[in-house]
Amino acid sequence: MTYLRVDVDFDALEHLISDAIGVLSAEGTVTAWSAAAASLTGITREDAVGRSLDELFARVDPPLGFAAVPMPVTLLTNDERRRAIHGNALSLDEGWFVSFGAQQRYDAIDQLKHEIIAAVSHELKTPIASIKAYATTLRENSGIAEADRAEYLSTIEQEADRLAHAVDQLLLAGRVDAEYMLTHRERLTAGALLDLALARLSASAAARVERATGDVALGGDPELLSIALAHLLDNALKFSGHETPVVVEAAASDGAVLVRVRDRGIGIATEHLPYIFERFYRSERSLTAPTGGYGLGLFVAREIARAHGGAIDVESAALSGSAFTLRIPERA
Ligand code: ADP
Repeated sequence: MTYLRVDVDFDALEHLISDAIGVLSAEGTVTAWSAAAASLTGITREDAVGRSLDELFARVDPPLGFAAVPMPVTLLTNDERRRAIHGNALSLDEGWFVSFGAQQRYDAIDQLKHEIIAAVSHELKTPIASIKAYATTLRENSGIAEADRAEYLSTIEQEADRLAHAVDQLLLAGRVDAEYMLTHRERLTAGALLDLALARLSASAAARVERATGDVALGGDPELLSIALAHLLDNALKFSGHETPVVVEAAASDGAVLVRVRDRGIGIATEHLPYIFERFYRSERSLTAPTGGYGLGLFVAREIARAHGGAIDVESAALSGSAFTLRIPERA
């Protein structure tokens, strides 16, 4: 570790560091505010100096406390856009040094929200038209053969499932926003998280999931995290045979909780792996499958993990199954 003890002029520092930076006094009021900080936050130097971060922002999360190493901090802007700005705060001998990065993550979430709404609204039309057509056929043809009747009813059922899935995605889009993600945090065990995720699946799908989750605890938004895990489970079940189980394990490792979903299904060819988290990416197989989704599941799951400071890793090979690992910091 190299320690620096320097007397440096803020103007010089500002030229050296292109990030938005500021200095706070021991009492927490701003004493210096760079031009980049002004342009990123929309708060001018004149407005910032002499005020505390609590006065300048709608929320400072977490509140500044002693930290010998830079601690991540999120500021929520006070304007109507309510942007979340991510940065780091380092406590000095007297006061604080803060630096902020761009708010790309939350811009991406905003973008995601619009795309989900656009894609799903479009997709809603097809199942509705098909349900209506089959229902009309059934009503108007009383003498319909039993085999055809069963087929039409099962199509109606599948289309209704697609609708339910689409509506879930829409509801999620409505919930995905920076402020929400910052406010809803609870402690929960991996087992409890799995229960919430399983409740999102049909009973027959949930019955195929084998649990090997310990009692490890993590912090986060139970609803969003259960949506992320449900997407991983849904895929594992969808892309593997009915006779093979899907196994969920949880373990603590290095300040994070790992929840791993393993299947013995069709796997993912190495050349497809880099793309599966992209929005609207679907394999050809999934395009033709009756349960095919919108190629948003993994994208949404990864955004949720990232919003918690975590990630999703994948190991997979064609024909030998896949393992998706949701990694969430213990104190997200
Ligand atoms: P979808 O709604 O199509 O499932 P996802 O974003 O959840 O969209 O997944 C994208 C693609 O990644 C899928 O279409 C599939 O090709 C692949 N994939 C995801 N999970 C698995 C898995 N467990 N096994 C095999 N392929 C998978």
